[in-house]
Amino acid sequence: MVKASPLTIVAGRLSTANWLASPNCNTRPADTTIDTIVIHNISLPPNEFGACGADGIHYVKALFTNQLDWNAHPYFQTIQGAEVSAHLFIERDGAITQFVNFDERAWHAGKSSYLGRPECNNYSIGIELEGSDFVSFTDEQYETLAQVINAIYDAYPKTQRHLTGHSDIAPGRKTDPGDYFEWTKLRELVAKKSDQ
Ligand SMILES: [Zn+2]
Repeated sequence: MVKASPLTIVAGRLSTANWLASPNCNTRPADTTIDTIVIHNISLPPNEFGACGADGIHYVKALFTNQLDWNAHPYFQTIQGAEVSAHLFIERDGAITQFVNFDERAWHAGKSSYLGRPECNNYSIGIELEGSDFVSFTDEQYETLAQVINAIYDAYPKTQRHLTGHSDIAPGRKTDPGDYFEWTKLRELVAKKSDQ
């Protein structure tokens, strides 16, 4: 069976993603097998989508590239100095931005543990969806995410073992992607696209 995934990963980069390099990354530990995908949600300010600073840069993209103006919104002062990133950010319309090469370690999970293994950043790929714990995600986001996950499965086959959420690897500390995230819908779409 020939797969016709519209997305491919070459040398750690996703085709068609906009590339915006983040300094918030480092090398994965030697001999790391990338075997986990972590889903998150983020919005800046919280629960606002598509908001940009005076420089025209989307606030989330600014955060992940250390360009956020901490004075632009009161909330930003509560996260001032944060140095974070994700491999991918998927906006409400399905647009994808990649900040960190998949072969590198993005800083998305923080203090975390999955199946007894600490430091999820070491062995996972982090995907942020523009969203919040209080609203549904868009069909475009599910479609794009399912395509992305299939591309990741092709390039990093061990990731087929572990698809999880930030709230599962940092319970009590993180709540994303939240109760509105439809895991069953995502898994069905991923399976459907893998057959195409
Ligand atoms: Zn998160």
